[in-house]
Amino acid sequence: MEYASYWHATSTPFAHAQTEPVGGEVDVAVIGAGFTGLNAALKLARAGLRVAVLEAGHVGAGASGRNGGHLNNGIAHGYASAKAHLGADRAHALYHAYDRSIDLIEATVREEGIDCDFRRSGKLKLASKPSHVDGLRANFELIHREVDPDTRWLDKSDLKGEIGSDSFHGGMLYEKSAMAHMGRYVNGLAEAAHRHGARIWEGTPVTDRNRTAGGWELVTPRGRIRAARVIAATDAYSGTVKGAPLKHFRQRIIPVGSFIIATRPLTEAEVAATLPGDRTCVTSLNIGNYFRLSPDRRLIFGGRARFSAVSDQTSDAKSGRILQRSMASIFPHLANVEIDYCWGGLVGMTKDRFPRVGEADGMLYGMGYSGHGAQMSALVGQVLADMAMDIRDTNPLEGLEWSAIPAHSGKPWFLPVVGLWFGLKDRLS
Ligand SMILES: Cc1cc2nc3c(=O)[nH]c(=O)nc-3n(C[C@H](O)[C@H](O)[C@H](O)COP(=O)(O)OP(=O)(O)OC[C@H]3O[C@@H](n4cnc5c(N)ncnc54)[C@H](O)[C@@H]3O)c2cc1C
Repeated sequence: MEYASYWHATSTPFAHAQTEPVGGEVDVAVIGAGFTGLNAALKLARAGLRVAVLEAGHVGAGASGRNGGHLNNGIAHGYASAKAHLGADRAHALYHAYDRSIDLIEATVREEGIDCDFRRSGKLKLASKPSHVDGLRANFELIHREVDPDTRWLDKSDLKGEIGSDSFHGGMLYEKSAMAHMGRYVNGLAEAAHRHGARIWEGTPVTDRNRTAGGWELVTPRGRIRAARVIAATDAYSGTVKGAPLKHFRQRIIPVGSFIIATRPLTEAEVAATLPGDRTCVTSLNIGNYFRLSPDRRLIFGGRARFSAVSDQTSDAKSGRILQRSMASIFPHLANVEIDYCWGGLVGMTKDRFPRVGEADGMLYGMGYSGHGAQMSALVGQVLADMAMDIRDTNPLEGLEWSAIPAHSGKPWFLPVVGLWFGLKDRLS
């Protein structure tokens, strides 16, 4: 077994990172080469602006190269609670923003020729307990009636053609959801941005910044660059570079580990016995699981597993063992299947689990996707590019207040307590 992201291990790394020192002047500097930063850079470069992307690790080193590969439409919250929190109009607009973000990915991979197995698979949200059926069904009915007719309810008996497991008691199907090979997508985005003229530095952490007459000077160990506008696209990884000028975001984002295992390629008989519907699947527990098949027919099975803010080999291995047990309980016929990859990454949560896009502390920012950013980051990246070009009316989250979390400066000391609370809620539900 490799302790590595399957997406990293099975895609060609970005081949055009800048080799010269960082220097000069650009219109926009982007911190972070994940989906958000690269979508912003691509749009800006296509519009003819001078763009620099500064990435501490490599393209897709953060969550964008480590996620579950679900490009799901719909919002993470129950739609009634989203309406109560955001108001009906904004909840409606946000729901459709997720739809649009998947359309944007589809258009970008087509226009830029990114070969990443993008496919409109549909997503199944599965009721893990009989007691979850009524709530899930009520949510389906509201969504179907008010915002998304491309949804269907499936009773337990209907699930037989979708999933080879007795663990679920009904489910909601979101027809517009999609999936892709996320390594090929993120590296393809970087190649496209480069082709249109963006310069991307890897191994180049931004460690400080200084005000200049025309904007900012960003400081890196490989040199300094001046930029009229700066985009922070660092999400859960905002706290990973010492001294980085991202304190504003560290006080608002809660980094939470999420972990994944990938089996060996399954035989056609095993695929038919496991996920004949070939969709993205998410369970209804708070500490639940998400799974799908890879293009080469592995089961990619993820979940929070433990409430940890650390993803390293020890933490990933511990979580991997928990995930293997969960996978075996849902799919007993896979109990002894070989696991080829195990990895983890950090999810950037906000307190209310709604993302934030705006301008603060001298930077444009888009982050806090709370586990639903693989798709939304495409729209947000493009909105950030618009904002950098002074187009201000495309942000579906405009004006959503975002205050600092009291006593939080980047390391979420309160995670174990939150984990116990959600675990208890799952047991009692
Ligand atoms: C295990 C896991 C599973 C997930 N599954 C899904 C899923 O199935 N569907 C879904 O919708 N979402 C999923 N997500 C969330 C999704 O992957 C993220 O929301 C999305 O990738 C965020 O993209 P981003 O570009 O904003 O941030 P990232 O991809 O995290 O990029 C941030 C980058 O900033 C860089 N950086 C940080 N600080 C600095 C600095 N000072 N200088 C330079 N560079 C810096 C980091 O190195 C990193 O590469 C998952 C996340 C994880 C971790």
